[in-house]
Amino acid sequence: MSVLEVLPRDAHNEQLVAHVHPPDWKNPDPSGRYHLVVLGAGTAGLITALVASGLGAKVALVERHLMGGDCLNVGCVPSKAIIRSARRLHEAGQNGFLGLDVPDDFAPDFAGAMERMREIRARISHEDSAARYRDEFGVEVFLGDARFTGADTVDVDGTTLEFAKAVICTGARATAPPIPGLAESGYLDNETVFTLTDRPKRLGVIGAGPIGCELAQSFQRLGSEVTIYERMDQILVREDPDAARIVQEQIEADGVNMLFGTSLNRIETRGAEKVVHLTTADGQEVEHVVDEILVGAGRAPNVEGMGLEEVGVTFDPRIGIEVNDHLQTSNPRIFAAGDVCMQWKFTHAADAAAKIVVQNALFSFGPLGKKKLSDLVMPWCTYTDPEIAHVGLYEKDAQDLGIAVDTFQIDMAAANRAVTDGEETGFVKVHVKQGTDEIVGATIVASHAGDLITQFTLAITQKIGLGAFGNVIYPYPTQGEAIKRAAGLFTRTRLTPTVQRLFDFILKFRR
Ligand SMILES: Cc1cc2nc3c(=O)[nH]c(=O)nc-3n(C[C@H](O)[C@H](O)[C@H](O)COP(=O)(O)OP(=O)(O)OC[C@H]3O[C@@H](n4cnc5c(N)ncnc54)[C@H](O)[C@@H]3O)c2cc1C
Repeated sequence: MSVLEVLPRDAHNEQLVAHVHPPDWKNPDPSGRYHLVVLGAGTAGLITALVASGLGAKVALVERHLMGGDCLNVGCVPSKAIIRSARRLHEAGQNGFLGLDVPDDFAPDFAGAMERMREIRARISHEDSAARYRDEFGVEVFLGDARFTGADTVDVDGTTLEFAKAVICTGARATAPPIPGLAESGYLDNETVFTLTDRPKRLGVIGAGPIGCELAQSFQRLGSEVTIYERMDQILVREDPDAARIVQEQIEADGVNMLFGTSLNRIETRGAEKVVHLTTADGQEVEHVVDEILVGAGRAPNVEGMGLEEVGVTFDPRIGIEVNDHLQTSNPRIFAAGDVCMQWKFTHAADAAAKIVVQNALFSFGPLGKKKLSDLVMPWCTYTDPEIAHVGLYEKDAQDLGIAVDTFQIDMAAANRAVTDGEETGFVKVHVKQGTDEIVGATIVASHAGDLITQFTLAITQKIGLGAFGNVIYPYPTQGEAIKRAAGLFTRTRLTPTVQRLFDFILKFRR
């Protein structure tokens, strides 16, 4: 079996690899036909294997690289660890923030932040470890490249696994735009950026999507001079424009240079420098010099080299594997989950999809007991500072669907805790079906928006109206009180002139 290395070579990365691709791992001898063979051990594959095995199924899980996939190794975990360090540095480096002076010798410690990230990733990695899946969950773990070879067989580097059902959870990878000279100049993406130990002095980031924005802001706060090149005229184009604007203002205030409406024409290598030749929004041709380029735009599904054509699984190399609402592919014995087939490219979406697949692949009978992807209420969050979190419909979605909405919005500054914490930037915005308190969507911009949005996700899932939030007691002071205040705006609209007159009449006699 090949030995994998994660750079830089240090004790943390050795521990990581020992957990998620142990150099001395021996694949088991296949033990007959499996209920499920799962291809890929990122979040979707791990959860599929764990849940199915926990319910008594015989499961083989195949991973060619690092168990834990993108989330653990080159995605959520390392990025969130860096974001936290960057935020601490940002706060510590702002003279007067929270009334405190900055020490004279203050300097961002890039290497320290990266080492902490590696330590945390290694510490968490035991959760996804090959040994844990084998010993605690009874999953047969095969490290190697999986490929369909027949109607019910998968080959793993020469070993044949027989399956009743198979699940493709092979995820996605970063892609780079076709800019002349980019490949030759060398660039970073999410698979390599977390190997850095030295701060790039000048960093160019291509793309102002979630990955680009999170990393651009963090690297700026860790001491790099960051420029974002974006084709469009705003960041996070899929988000509520008011919400994206607030985050954009903060990222700019941090010192990130944002070039909107730019076309990148070519990259030239000049000694150790990379020269970005671009056309600005007003049509000027300019050169921009950086030390490193980070590509944060574009993902491609991992669909190649798996024999999908031979087993009749339809896919598009750009969009991924085609699945129906039950996550079944064009081959009814083969299912898919996660980034390889879904629009929602999030860890929690992969997790939720995996549970649907287990139910549909193993425990449904014809149409009976089938679960649907479209029934999920999916929140998401971009972990910039402030964070943007969303669930349900945006205002524009509602318009497109012909759903009239009432919108209630309150600034985070309305929650005293946001003020005491110096975190009052942002808002809570909630849409209800016009004339009712049925919540159809919500966006939160706040320091902890990702935590707060769950209140609305729960409400939409359980059909709890906005009015109910007004009756809930929130501990004082908490940032969640902003949600109660938004509900208060709604409740006030219920105070009809007749009710108000009645109250006025009663109060006259209560003095
Ligand atoms: C920088 C970054 C930050 C992110 N931050 C967040 C976040 O904060 N929150 C969030 O929800 N999401 C985040 N995401 C997205 C999240 O990481 C993905 O949605 C999630 O990892 C998808 O899981 P998956 O199982 O579908 O795919 P993956 O995690 O990509 O796993 C697929 C696995 O399949 C393996 N594989 C592929 N082909 C084969 C084969 N032929 N044989 C065997 N194995 C194979 C791969 O090696 C990989 O391990 C982030 C992504 C990035 C890049």
